[in-house]
Amino acid sequence: MKDKEIENLIKLEEKRQNSVINLIASENYVSKDVLRALGSVFTNKYAEGYPGARYYGGNEVVDKVENLAKTRALKLFIRQPADRKKWGVNVQPYSGSPANFAVYLALVPLGQKMMGMSLGMGGHLTHGHKVSATSKLWKWAHFGVDKKTELLDYDEIRKMARKEKPKLIVAGFTAYSRIIDFPKFRRIADEIGAIFMVDMSHFAGLVAGGVYPSPFKYADVITTTTHKTLRGPRVAIIFSKKEFSQAIDKTVFPGLQGGPHANQIAAVAVCLKEAMSPAFKNYAKQVVKNARALALSLSKRGWRIISGGTDSHLFLVDTWARGLSGKTAQELLETQKIIVNKNTIPYDTRPPFDPSGIRLGTPAVTTQGLKEKDMIKIAEKIDKILKRHANH
Ligand SMILES: *Cc1c(COP(=O)(O)O)cnc(C)c1O
Repeated sequence: MKDKEIENLIKLEEKRQNSVINLIASENYVSKDVLRALGSVFTNKYAEGYPGARYYGGNEVVDKVENLAKTRALKLFIRQPADRKKWGVNVQPYSGSPANFAVYLALVPLGQKMMGMSLGMGGHLTHGHKVSATSKLWKWAHFGVDKKTELLDYDEIRKMARKEKPKLIVAGFTAYSRIIDFPKFRRIADEIGAIFMVDMSHFAGLVAGGVYPSPFKYADVITTTTHKTLRGPRVAIIFSKKEFSQAIDKTVFPGLQGGPHANQIAAVAVCLKEAMSPAFKNYAKQVVKNARALALSLSKRGWRIISGGTDSHLFLVDTWARGLSGKTAQELLETQKIIVNKNTIPYDTRPPFDPSGIRLGTPAVTTQGLKEKDMIKIAEKIDKILKRHANH
């Protein structure tokens, strides 16, 4: 590279990524092939519109790329070819947040009500959190988890849905470690005639790998980022039942976005193909095994795991139960090159910038080839660092 300053920073970041234990639940390490597609000449091309209907010339190759990405997306997540015909797919959203925004804008009139999990209990900013534009443009009802079990309480969710009558219910979280009962959500949505949307951003890779239930039989719309467990570039995909697809496509472009990022779409196509491989299935399996091993080892060492364990790639630790705030725990671990993020826990009494817990995830370390025995070592290391500062 001619630009030595940036080249140097790239090298520094490579070194940093290789020298830490990365337990950030939403991060991963992409393959060389994904990076190759991201750094390709597709970044030079303007392609406003959709395959076969662009506003610029010269898109015959980009059209092939986008169509391939769409075909692969449907093939990866929907087993039966006949079922694929019921779904539309859009691979142009720049990232997860604009994808969710596009769905809301397409399907729910401004000012009307939606329902989702509150951020403090494990939801996402774009599920109507007060600092997100989604809460300024629509009304929201928020559910959480049961105080005792720390699990979703479907009776409460049903009660809330019947009272609030949201137009759309979104299920899908950033800090909930358990399996979501998609059929139950579907029944609740049907009772009140709501659209049922699943935001599988976090666990899409686990669904692709067959180790987490698929929402495709139950949801009307499914959004996902591709850079978390799915191990692709920073993009998002929207799947929608055909009756909603046209409105969603129009909202993504020209409603909300301009030219699609063709290099990102090429990279998504690469990651989707990788996710079809037997190796990826093993990877997804190992991600969950590792998360379970890490949670269990920490729990054996006296650390309280929210809801008692995990069914996925992530879990929360209640560090405040031993007198350590999440921020302090994050900082202590970082001094020893273990990277985690502070996180609120359900019914947190502490402020979000210094909450009661940390979130741990295994997608990145599993990509590096770590197994259960390594998780035990990491748990020992975490315990050693934190217990010195704990109050018991
Ligand atoms: C990560 C995430 C998003 C947003 O993704 P960005 O690409 O960061 O905008 C949306 N919803 C959920 C549930 C997520 O986990």
